[in-house]
Amino acid sequence: MKTRVAIIGAGPAGLLLSHLLEREGIESIIVEAQSSDFVLGRFRAGLLEAASVDVLDEAGLSERLHRDGLEHRGVYVQWPGTKRSVDFVERGGRPVWVYGQSELTRDLSDARFAAGQQMYYNVSDVALHDVDSSAPFLTGVDATGRSIRIDADVIVGCDGFAGVSRDSLPQSLRAVYERRYPHSWLGFFADVPPSSDQIIFAWHPEGFAMHTMRSASISRFHLQVDPHDHISAWSDDRIWETTARRLGSGDNDWTLHAGPITEKSILPLRCRITTPMRHARLFLAGDAAHVVPPTGAKGLNLAIADVTLLARALGAWKRGDESLANAYSDSALRRVWRAAEFSWSWSSALHTTGDPFDDQLQLAQLDWLTSSPTGGAGLAEKFSGVPIAFG
Ligand SMILES: Cc1cc2nc3c(=O)[nH]c(=O)nc-3n(C[C@H](O)[C@H](O)[C@H](O)COP(=O)(O)OP(=O)(O)OC[C@H]3O[C@@H](n4cnc5c(N)ncnc54)[C@H](O)[C@@H]3O)c2cc1C
Repeated sequence: MKTRVAIIGAGPAGLLLSHLLEREGIESIIVEAQSSDFVLGRFRAGLLEAASVDVLDEAGLSERLHRDGLEHRGVYVQWPGTKRSVDFVERGGRPVWVYGQSELTRDLSDARFAAGQQMYYNVSDVALHDVDSSAPFLTGVDATGRSIRIDADVIVGCDGFAGVSRDSLPQSLRAVYERRYPHSWLGFFADVPPSSDQIIFAWHPEGFAMHTMRSASISRFHLQVDPHDHISAWSDDRIWETTARRLGSGDNDWTLHAGPITEKSILPLRCRITTPMRHARLFLAGDAAHVVPPTGAKGLNLAIADVTLLARALGAWKRGDESLANAYSDSALRRVWRAAEFSWSWSSALHTTGDPFDDQLQLAQLDWLTSSPTGGAGLAEKFSGVPIAFG
């Protein structure tokens, strides 16, 4: 097979890239290791910043998002005895949207199938070849066991954290920046209407807790837990008791509503950034190049920003101008590092360490972010996101 752009991975980055490329008049082929059902069934992120929604609006992909998603003007930040609302719009930012990643992936996937996109699921042993040359290609084995080869002008690795494409960056050029956080998140979904009209970020001496939502009938929660903790130690009763205590259920007439837990797992918090995001005819986008802790809700938004820049760059290159393609890695990484900084500082303000001195510093930080116009404006901008642009 031959195409202009060979895309590895049919997650949000790969699917959106193929859609945006089509609008630039560029054909692509996607290869994905998993089945379509598996990809569509993956629950992960759920908060879209305004800049991401702009991209989806412009690409004609946001009808269901505006119908079924929940628009939020801000968030609650709380600690024992105090609950403050940070209104992003009042502080100079923009609203964010609560919309599950699985819903977005479904929208993107439906749009690609409707457009007749060439997509190959269940492809194993994907390997990249000759990315240094002007004729790169990839190989793999399709669902029927047949070997496939795709020749392309460029290859884009959208294959996530466990993907293979970043291994094709030469060792001599590659730099990997990594931070492992000293805590993990226990995340769970419950079939119960949200107990709050906005997302709650709660500092508690026992550990961080977060209440978010996926829809009017599905709630999502996260609890700070020890990195050595195992999910088997967390019965549903223990989870609800801990969540209620940390979120202050019963304080100020506010009550947490419990319900059936449908999914629970423990996720280590880490940040890992691989540079550069382009080498010769290979480009990386989304989690293939960077993962950040989910506290700042930036992972999915960064994937959308990367492919937005990349589609513009490849569109310009097709018209004979390679300058944006040359600027892609630096421009994308500028946004990535800002998101990494936000994810780090926001995580650091909310996750307890067991040291009483740290507790007081964290509370001073949260007080400033939620009461000072300057602090609030910074938090609003970091949450709602800045426009996606080269530079
Ligand atoms: C458990 C979990 C919870 C998360 N929670 C949040 C959150 O609350 N908020 C937030 O903002 N972000 C969160 N994230 C991050 C967010 O989900 C990602 O940033 C987002 O999925 C990135 O999209 P992507 O397309 O780059 O990568 P992915 O969604 O990982 O897609 C990559 C695709 O490539 C495929 N692939 C991998 N290897 C190969 C191969 N060799 N050949 C072919 N295909 C391959 C994979 O099967 C996958 O479909 C979470 C991530 C995880 C793992």
